[in-house]
Amino acid sequence: MSDAADVRKALASWVGYLGEIGVRELALREPSPRDPGALLAALRDEIGDCRRCKLCQARKTIVFGVGDPRATLMFVGEGPGADEDAQGEPFVGRAGQKLNEMIRAIGLERKDVYIANVVKCRPPGNRDPEPDEVRTCSPFLFRQIETIEPKVIVALGSPASKTLLDTKAGITSLRGRWGLFRGIPVMPTFHPAYLLRKYTAENRQAVFDDLKAARARIDEAS
Ligand code: URA
Repeated sequence: MSDAADVRKALASWVGYLGEIGVRELALREPSPRDPGALLAALRDEIGDCRRCKLCQARKTIVFGVGDPRATLMFVGEGPGADEDAQGEPFVGRAGQKLNEMIRAIGLERKDVYIANVVKCRPPGNRDPEPDEVRTCSPFLFRQIETIEPKVIVALGSPASKTLLDTKAGITSLRGRWGLFRGIPVMPTFHPAYLLRKYTAENRQAVFDDLKAARARIDEAS
């Protein structure tokens, strides 16, 4: 017998039993609405006081993510720096100020988007996260993305773009071209810290073009 037939049979026998004991009415409860905020909180609890990789040795704070759990736009960076490690929030230092400007340039505020990183603990000396660290931590980022279900992800810099697009290609060749993460459009762009270091008109225009493309795609999808 099929699973569905089994369920129907069990249900019929249960309803029959309820009738025998005098139950005449059954109220059907609405399924509870999906609550991405609660799901993110549960995911944060699951991470706990993480010791899954060597980044735990020097970190002060696990930097989980910040923003609207129902955001249509999500930004993904590489990993916390010193300011983020101290404050427990992604992109609060100089690169964060630049990211806030980038968000405002497309008519949004920081509170409207969700911001997270590939790794949740600060790599010592702000080095790039190593492959074993990315392998260990990125499943939590992937679950954040699946919970938030953004319409578009902007990948900030090389480690984020490579992780989300599962490629070894560098940011210069990836930037400005749409990719996909599990069906969600991903726009790779320069990291705001790179933009601060190489503050040329050309780089600023490139990032602005990428963000405008992301905004247009969200507007199309809404
Ligand atoms: N750089 C990142 O990639 N992430 C942060 O949170 C801060 C700086």
